[in-house]
Amino acid sequence: MSSANKFGLRRSDLTSDQKRTIRQQAGFGCVVCGNAIGDYEHIAPEFSQAAEHDVGKMTFLCVQCHGKVTRGQFSKESVLTFKENPTPLKEGFSFEAFDVGSTSPKIHFGPMSAVNCKWAIRVNQRPVFWINEPEGVGGPFRLNAEMRNVTGKVIFSIIDNEWRIRTENWDAEVIGPRISIRNGPRQIALVLRTAPPTDLFIEHMDMSVEGHRLLCDGKNFTVTTASGYTVQAQNLKFDGCQVAVEIADEAIAFGSGGGSVSFSGTTGTRASPRIIDPKIQRNVRCPCGSGRRYKHCCGAF
Ligand SMILES: [Zn+2]
Ligand SMILES: [Zn+2]
Repeated sequence: MSSANKFGLRRSDLTSDQKRTIRQQAGFGCVVCGNAIGDYEHIAPEFSQAAEHDVGKMTFLCVQCHGKVTRGQFSKESVLTFKENPTPLKEGFSFEAFDVGSTSPKIHFGPMSAVNCKWAIRVNQRPVFWINEPEGVGGPFRLNAEMRNVTGKVIFSIIDNEWRIRTENWDAEVIGPRISIRNGPRQIALVLRTAPPTDLFIEHMDMSVEGHRLLCDGKNFTVTTASGYTVQAQNLKFDGCQVAVEIADEAIAFGSGGGSVSFSGTTGTRASPRIIDPKIQRNVRCPCGSGRRYKHCCGAF
């Protein structure tokens, strides 16, 4: 796909390890302006004159800053200065904006989704993912989030549609509409995908908030509370609820404050959240409300 320069070097020859090193050194954004969307660029010599991909002579630049360099509006010396002292590392984050329209965006978290809900996820009254109304008529709805990793550290936030990747992360990568954050090699903390202007997909999430563990993938949304029980939900659709998922110390509520909760699962998936708690007696009625005994319902095997 990419063409070779006079030395036979291709941009696609840059290895994933080299890319990650460049991202980590840059703080996951353009070293000049901090924008999270960009590319791996040769500074000096420039790509056409480079015999090899030397990470020490490369950096991460956004399209706009890279364009200024190629048009001669910004010097290579200045880029090298920013490479030594990248803007994302100074600010603590790289950033970009989500394109959100004037209809309430739909948040998908794993197999579940929430639309027209003020709080998609709230933990002990602390908002994790929420939506503010437009500031003016016809203005965009405003996404907000504070996403953490398994140790409870904030790794990614959204402030009125501006998203920020914290530079303390081990790695973060933006490819097309997908943002991925890792805690270490093969340790995925968060994967988000956007489908503007209406949908945001949390494809993978593994975080800890106030001692509660929230895990989501394509199949399940799983919460293990600080007190030690687990609730697993699939295919619930929330519309117009004040809070889609409310997690408190001793209870988890799905779809509170009005609105509707519907189920759109396929065979093999459950309409009601599955409750797994070692303290529940196996012969009592299941707390999920199915009417069956726990051992034949949520507590089966
Ligand atoms: Zn830039
Ligand atoms: Zn049950």
